This record gives sequence, C-alpha cells and structure tokens, in this order.
Amino acid sequence: MTGPAVPLARPDFGEEEVEAVRAVLASGWVAGQGPKSRDLEERWADRCGTQHAVAVSNCTAALHLALLSLGVEPGDEVLVADYTYPATGHSVLFCGAKPIFVDVLAETGTLDPRQLEAAVTPATRGVVAVDVFGQPADYGAIERFCTDRGLFLVEDAACSMGATYGGRAAGNLGDVACFSLHARKGISSGEGGVLVTDRGDIADSVRKRSCFGVESAFARQQATKLPIPVFDELGYNYKLSDILAAIAIVQLGRLDELMARRVAIATRYSTLLAEIPGITPPTTAEGRTHVWQAYVVTVDEPLDRDRIALDLRSRGIECGFGTYASHLQPVYRTDRACPASATLLRRHLALPMHTGLTDDDVRHVVATLSAAVESHLQRIA
Ligand SMILES: *Cc1c(COP(=O)(O)O)cnc(C)c1O
Repeated sequence: MTGPAVPLARPDFGEEEVEAVRAVLASGWVAGQGPKSRDLEERWADRCGTQHAVAVSNCTAALHLALLSLGVEPGDEVLVADYTYPATGHSVLFCGAKPIFVDVLAETGTLDPRQLEAAVTPATRGVVAVDVFGQPADYGAIERFCTDRGLFLVEDAACSMGATYGGRAAGNLGDVACFSLHARKGISSGEGGVLVTDRGDIADSVRKRSCFGVESAFARQQATKLPIPVFDELGYNYKLSDILAAIAIVQLGRLDELMARRVAIATRYSTLLAEIPGITPPTTAEGRTHVWQAYVVTVDEPLDRDRIALDLRSRGIECGFGTYASHLQPVYRTDRACPASATLLRRHLALPMHTGLTDDDVRHVVATLSAAVESHLQRIA
C-alpha cells in the first residue's frame, strides 16, 4: 500500500449531531412520529417547496408507501428506471405489482424518456424516475409523458437532496418524491427516509400506513378524549425514530455546507481527470445541478474497469462500480433488455467522494488512477 487508505464514502457528523442526540434522549420521546420527526418534516417540506413531508424508516419504505398510496395493486405494472439500487424495483414487488425496467441515457444514467412509450401496456399505472448519483432525471420530458397518459410520476430522490432541475428543487419534480438518509447519501442519520408531496391525501395515507394503519401515539396524546385506535386498513411499522430525526435536523441545517464541499471536490476531480486518456468524467445536463452523492467516471474501451478498480484498491484507494442494472437481477425474473444500463454497470467506476477528502486526497486519487491507466494501456499495446 502506498500511503493511507482513502475511503470511498464517509458520513460527516460533529458535536452538533452528538448534542442533538443527547437532548432527544433526555426529552423522553425517542420513538417515531414524535416532536423531532414533526420538526424534521416541516423543515424538509420547506426546503423542497412541497406542501407535505413524512419521515419514515428509510427510502425503500417511502417508495413502498408512495406506490401503495398511489393505488398500485397486484396485476399493475410500473415503469422503473433500470440503472438504480434495487430498492426501487423491490418497492414495486412489495405491492404485488410488476416493475417494467426502462433503459437509461449513457451520459447521465437517468431514465431515457424516448424508451417509455414502447414499455407502456394497459396495466401501466405510473413511472418511477431515479436521480442517479445526485443528478435529477429528465423531468421535463418524463412529466409530459406521464401527464399525457394519466400516469403517476414518483421521483426516487434517494441521492439528490439539494439538487435542482430547471430551478425546481429535487423532491418537487413528480407527484411524490422519496429521499434517503442512509450513511452513503449526502446528508444522513445512519438510516432514514423522507417522503414529500403536494397531495394531502397521499401524505395522510402514507403517515397512517407508516404507523400500522392508525394515528401515531404522539398524535393521540394530543387528543382531549381517551381514543382507542381502530385498525381499519393494513399498515406497517415504518416510523423514523426521533433519535434519528434529531440527527437529520442538524444534517439538513448543514445541507448547503456539505453540498458545497462535494461540488468543490467534483469540480477538482473533473478538471484533473480531463487530462487522462480512457477516463470520461461525469456530465451534468443543461439546466440541472448535481449534488454528487457519488462521483462516477466511465472507463472507456479497451481498458478493463475491473482491473483498474483492483489496481486502485491495491494502492489504498477504495473504489467501486456505479450502481445496478436492475433487469439483470434474478429476483425480477425479466428478459427485458436495457443495453445502455448494462454497459454502465460494466464501465462505471466510483471514486472516493465525501466531505472528508482534502484537495491533496483528490490529487492523490487522480495521480494513482492515471498511473493505473497508463500501465494498463502499456500492457494492452
Ligand atoms: C440508497 C438508495 C435507495 C434506498 O435507500 P434506503 O434509505 O437505504 O432504503 C433507493 N434508491 C436509490 C436510487 C438509492 O441510491
């Protein structure tokens, strides 16, 4: 190993988060849907510019409840962007419905709107677009497509808190959006999720289904009578603990600071990488801002992505593939082809991206990558 290991990802917590946990433990309310969760929801909706927000246990739970509340049932089909963490496809299966995977654009890895039409059948209910690595999808075209056909649009914004499309905030780009607070995202509470929407009926339904199908204990505590809850529909236990909500409130307050650091690192990477043959830096499409949940380059032919990655690892730099080509996962039992997505799975290389990286770290990663590429090109020649 040359020098210290550079990790791929690392959350950014400080004294403020520790203090928030101390305070919520002392308060006595540590379960979900308590005062801290309510506070987080208000601040989150405010930041996204949506009417409602509901804090839940993770983004996968948010996606599940979003689809249920939009009426997805067994027998339905939902068009899902193929290049994503399989939580997106799983949430459709949770409803007993079928995910129909739609191919993506090579440049951004986001849903290719031109591929939607051919995937529609009479069973299609809606579309789930994914803001891959922190860049919003092509919502102008996707929204038009959904509106014309009466389909719902869900934004998988797991990675894109703080990003924008045409000046609109991520979260405000479909009927419902789902965010993640997992350790690997831009802001985090370890695990966690937030669903946002302008539709009051969806927010109410999601809140109830996240708490077994009844009003939360905190809401009941505020009632004047002694209410005995009635279970009139099946719900889940998808609440976010108030301990985690307290951490998320601090992280949300630091969003601009943390985002600015990631943008600066990405800019530095892209400038330095422009010099290296065989490596294509990521692109941000016109009219969008990217929050760089991950910094993912394309390793061009004839270089072998896997060999480059193993080479970097052996030199103390953690790296990985981009994300998954869902249609290739056996759990989905599909024979649909998504060639662009399959190519990204083979050619994408995620480089270290987190706020703890120094400018020297970035220079070291790029120099090491450059050396690896050079030695591989020599071996091929
Ligand atoms: C991380 C991620 C999820 C899942 O988020 P969890 O909070 O871990 O459930 C869903 N979709 C995408 C695109 C993700 O990156």
